[in-house]
Amino acid sequence: MTSTALPTTEDLRTRARTSLERVGVTVPEGTDFRARTPITGEDLFGLEAATAADTEEALTATRAAFLTWRTTPAPRRGELVRRLGELLRDHKSDLADLITIEAGKIRSEALGEVQEMIDICDFAVGLSRQLYGRTIASERPGHRLAETWHPLGVVGVISAFNFPAAVWSWNTAVALACGDTVIWKPSELTPLISLACDHLLARAAEEVGAPRDVHRLLLGDRTIGEKLVDDPRVALISATGSTRMGREVGPRVAARFGRSLLELGGNNAAVVAPSADLDLAVQAIVFAAAGTAGQRCTTLRRLIVHRDIADTLVARLTAAYQKLPIGNPFDDATLVGPLISTKALDGMQDALTRAQGQGGKILAGGGRRLAEAAAQAAYAEPVIVRVDKQSDVVREETFAPILYVLTYDTLDEAIALHNDVPQGLSSSIFTRDQQEAELFLSAEGSDCGIANVNIGTSGAEIGGAFGGEKETGGGRESGSDSWRAYMRPATNTINYSSRLALAQNVSFL
Ligand code: NAD
Repeated sequence: MTSTALPTTEDLRTRARTSLERVGVTVPEGTDFRARTPITGEDLFGLEAATAADTEEALTATRAAFLTWRTTPAPRRGELVRRLGELLRDHKSDLADLITIEAGKIRSEALGEVQEMIDICDFAVGLSRQLYGRTIASERPGHRLAETWHPLGVVGVISAFNFPAAVWSWNTAVALACGDTVIWKPSELTPLISLACDHLLARAAEEVGAPRDVHRLLLGDRTIGEKLVDDPRVALISATGSTRMGREVGPRVAARFGRSLLELGGNNAAVVAPSADLDLAVQAIVFAAAGTAGQRCTTLRRLIVHRDIADTLVARLTAAYQKLPIGNPFDDATLVGPLISTKALDGMQDALTRAQGQGGKILAGGGRRLAEAAAQAAYAEPVIVRVDKQSDVVREETFAPILYVLTYDTLDEAIALHNDVPQGLSSSIFTRDQQEAELFLSAEGSDCGIANVNIGTSGAEIGGAFGGEKETGGGRESGSDSWRAYMRPATNTINYSSRLALAQNVSFL
């Protein structure tokens, strides 16, 4: 199925301009690089990239701002985040427009992304009154042992195209509440939404009397990210993107003894047990596998189905895939928008060719869609591929809507297959058997950072910590106690007696 005709690039340019102006951003002009839209695959505006001097200035300014921001009481820092959240609420529709235009997300998911930003602001405002340390029993009489948490410094946020605004807000709302300042290097594919977010934060800072330099935006390519990665003035690099990028960033930050928080690629799987509620499972699987055109880090890429129900489930999924409306992401009927680029489509086609070469059989989808779309736009049918084994291509993350289906006989076998990939982000099991569910969540079960029951792999709430193991990088962001990554702990031993007692009964003098 195809939804309504695509808008023209001129329509999208006008819509982007209107949204930017409503947010308060002057429509950019420059010649260094182009903002583009995957909806038509064409350019929208020319932009200026940050220069080396801009980067240096941002480093100096955010470092100077940190020195005052870290002494501002945390609940007052929270006032800045609260105002940001209010402005995001006011401009929810404009921001969602920009996300759809630049990342190609369907309207409902783009609105969801902005809602996630609002939610994390609410969370961080509460957090600003809840930054706590522990008191630990001391072995010495008349002593108190405690930990205090202090702001860390400048946080460099490097973000990916597919959550062009939410990932920034997860980092920035929490970092600001924690007393850090932020430099943001967004994806070169999504500069317009970045300009809008930066502008709203600057406005919030002005309105609440916070220093403007608590935040800086640097537009441009990875070379700007590399400068942040190598600069010792950046205390924490929070980098979201491919495992390839993390493999470069992690060691470089470690080489200067900086901290990094890596949120990298996933290769997420769901196990479907014989007792599963298939109505619920089909709905969840289609959203997780085909939603966002397969361009979420948590997208469902592998389905591990019990042999007894595999044919039934696959038939139902195939039928659902044939009805997926693909096309204009602004059309309310559309469920699958464009891939980010023709390069992504080439990667998808290449993976399908390899999968077939490795014994895979395509059961649904796989074609290029929208004859009326320009050659540089990339609309693809989500695909289901049945495979006998977890071959090379199945073990890789292809950032496109390909769902590989494998079968299993015992739960041990399913869990072994599940964990036998290099990535460890998100996972789920569909079952009505409590023993199976608990086993999947136990230490012998899923090895991922996110493990769900009777719900898909994607669409996490902000209240929990988000992130994954193995080649996903080990970072945790967003809720729970992820804030600790943005602060440094100090252990304090306070002697309130008048005797010097050494630990471990050491005697000296
Ligand atoms: P990407 O790795 O191409 O780029 C991500 C960002 O890193 C961009 O801003 C880019 O300019 C920058 N970058 C690239 N190489 C760099 C280097 N050597 N030094 C410094 N910066 C560098 O990723 P993408 O295509 O934009 O996004 C898709 C990928 O991101 C997928 O693999 C997806 O799974 C992953 N992702 C992960 C999460 C998560 O939370 N785990 C969330 C979103 C996306």
